[in-house]
Amino acid sequence: MSNAPRPRREILAISPYVGGESQLAGINRTIKLSSNEGPFGAPPGARAAYAALVPTMHLYPDGHASELRRAIGRRFGLEPERIVCGAGSDNLIYLLTLAYSGPGTEIIMSAHGFSIYGIAAQYAGARTLKAAERNLTADVDAMLALVSPATRIVFLANPNNPTGSMLTAEEVARLRAGLPEEVLLVVDAAYAEYVERSDYEPGMALVRSTNNTVMTRTFSKMFGMGGMRLGWAYAPPAVVDVLNRIREPFNVNAAAQAAGIAALAEPDWVEQGRAHNREWRTRLASLLSAAGIKVWPSEGNFLLADFSIEARARGADAALRARGIIVRGTRGYGLPQCLRITIGTAEECQAVADALAAFMAHEAANA
Ligand SMILES: *Cc1c(COP(=O)(O)O)cnc(C)c1O
Repeated sequence: MSNAPRPRREILAISPYVGGESQLAGINRTIKLSSNEGPFGAPPGARAAYAALVPTMHLYPDGHASELRRAIGRRFGLEPERIVCGAGSDNLIYLLTLAYSGPGTEIIMSAHGFSIYGIAAQYAGARTLKAAERNLTADVDAMLALVSPATRIVFLANPNNPTGSMLTAEEVARLRAGLPEEVLLVVDAAYAEYVERSDYEPGMALVRSTNNTVMTRTFSKMFGMGGMRLGWAYAPPAVVDVLNRIREPFNVNAAAQAAGIAALAEPDWVEQGRAHNREWRTRLASLLSAAGIKVWPSEGNFLLADFSIEARARGADAALRARGIIVRGTRGYGLPQCLRITIGTAEECQAVADALAAFMAHEAANA
């Protein structure tokens, strides 16, 4: 027996999260459409705020992110004292999982839900139960059917990554109403800024009207600040209290706080990003459909392209890579026949459409 330090047994069973790739060997100009980052970089004001912080880099940040929480509160009409900021929303998802689940308990998510929930649960020592979906959409009844006395948290990404599907406000409320009061419902609304359907609600109304629901949000997608690591949770006072006890005292760095405040103040950023996304999500979906590829409806800044069989998805991925385009394989999400494609700039969307149309034509010719 070795005497080397050993972590808890469940830690070594974790498969580390695999992010979207960013580089291809031998190609110096790549188009990265693998991580749902915004296509326009960060808002100009956020870049300036980041740069302005260089002279004070030696100072600790505000451990309570007070000004940032006030700015978020103003923007979304929320009470700052019910907001907790984190180093990305992943940070908050880990904290919630560690605080509310643990060995002998269970968390519930949907079959093709965001993978971080399962990883965080394993870290906490909890079991993950996955509810079957209908049409690649979370099924409230299937999720409720998995509830047991061991259930501690139900995670719902709304809209979901990588499928792009969403539940209406009514369905999310029905999920909440069907759960026991002691079960925490976490609504991960990372893509809320992109949704335009009037039957959608990102989760704040539900947080307000219950004492057991949390909404998480991020600056990594619409606000183009993935590299800064900034997210936030809107939660009932008791959950806020728990998060503030266990988070690291300076979990959000000074640059992220300053850039976040500036990003929220950027005029028309969200409106323009949403308009671009609406236009190109629609156009790319039609171009791919015209090429013979099934595209699932998406409310996010990405499309799930379905090639029916894994071999064809792999072939499409290889054809894209040959042209320097990186998208996201979804094998790890139980969807080996699909590829997730982020909505990039107009040129990037056109490049991906051209490459896939050529690939499908070649496939047809060789069938
Ligand atoms: C991108 C994403 C996040 C955001 O993660 P950050 O840690 O804030 O960068 C959270 N949930 C889902 C479903 C996502 O796709």
